[in-house]
Amino acid sequence: MTAPTTTIFTTMTALAEETGAINLGQGFPDEDGPAEVADAAVAALRSGTRNQYAPLGGVPELREAILEHQRRQYGLEPAAVQVTFGATEALASAVLGLVRPGEEMVILDPCYDSYAPIARMAGATLRRVPLHPPDWRLDLDELAAAITPRTRLLLFNSPHNPTGRVLDRAELEGIAALCRDNDVIAVTDEVYEHLVFEGEHIPLATLPGMGERTVTISSIGKTFSFTGWKIGWATGPAELIAALRGVKQFLSFAGGTPLQAAAAAALAHDGGYPARLRDELHAKRDRLADGLRAAGFGVLACQGTYFICADASPLGHPDAEALSLRLPHEAGVVVIPVSAFVEDPAGPTRSLVRFAFCKRESVLDEAIGRLREWA
Ligand code: PMP
Ligand code: GLN
Repeated sequence: MTAPTTTIFTTMTALAEETGAINLGQGFPDEDGPAEVADAAVAALRSGTRNQYAPLGGVPELREAILEHQRRQYGLEPAAVQVTFGATEALASAVLGLVRPGEEMVILDPCYDSYAPIARMAGATLRRVPLHPPDWRLDLDELAAAITPRTRLLLFNSPHNPTGRVLDRAELEGIAALCRDNDVIAVTDEVYEHLVFEGEHIPLATLPGMGERTVTISSIGKTFSFTGWKIGWATGPAELIAALRGVKQFLSFAGGTPLQAAAAAALAHDGGYPARLRDELHAKRDRLADGLRAAGFGVLACQGTYFICADASPLGHPDAEALSLRLPHEAGVVVIPVSAFVEDPAGPTRSLVRFAFCKRESVLDEAIGRLREWA
């Protein structure tokens, strides 16, 4: 196992703090989620009964609210649910619990930064399948070629960080067919499930034959703008969730009890917040995309999430990694190079940067103004 180094998010947020630059790097909103949800957390903290360990699986009303959410949104009836410390712990527990050393695991490229390190911790052999810029399509023949008799698990994320791509039904059906035909387990990271501007979010578990071989992961952070709460979950077949739980119990056991209670309240009575957030983010995506175009960036397709990628090469910057280190000093804006999410930093994403648009409009406008002046 290779010891993971400092994550790109830690590095770039530290740079934002050091330089006072606007942080469009790490993806977190600059406004809290609903006051009623925060109030539910305060009430739980003050109740005198919600401050000790939670049951290992999660507090009962959160487990029920998650199952009800899956039923209401997608018609899914998962056999089991496990509450985790964010989606991050669910992802790590799934991979560590389901993949044995020497087995193979398929991921997309680019992908979220924790996937490759957790695969390495599990001793898995990684195979990456590209999403192709500029529209970030998945080539199902390339995916088929990455699957071998040793493939145990396919892990992917849609809506997708860092690209903003939402996989369409044809791509998901292709993934499902490959999983079924090759007896591969799927783990889906759906933390941006409610943040889709074009197209629709289709959980892989809803496709024929996939409910019994898919672990579906999500969390409260993005849907309710409380990214620091780290209340996540995994749902799926009993034996797959049991394998995940077996790992999770020794990573952190069970905690965050008052926040679990508040997360249950949020999911059960969302007050339309996720839909309003989605509409606001949609408008912010357009605002930032227009501003970036005006500054001279090439702007790539984005259908969901907090993120949009842009090409800095039209501005004479072919190396996005070098640019990302200079930009806070030169322009007062922090971004993330897409190279941080890929296997080959010198590949076709070399000149791309990721911008987070989950910020106040005034912050986005200030960043755009700075970038236009700098360009
Ligand atoms: N997956 C993706 C694709 C993400 O962007 C993030 C970051 N928020 C996570 C997982 C981690 O989620 P959590 O904060 O719930 O651990
Ligand atoms: N998910 C967030 C992003 O992609 C960051 C999470 C983290 O800092 N690990 O920006």
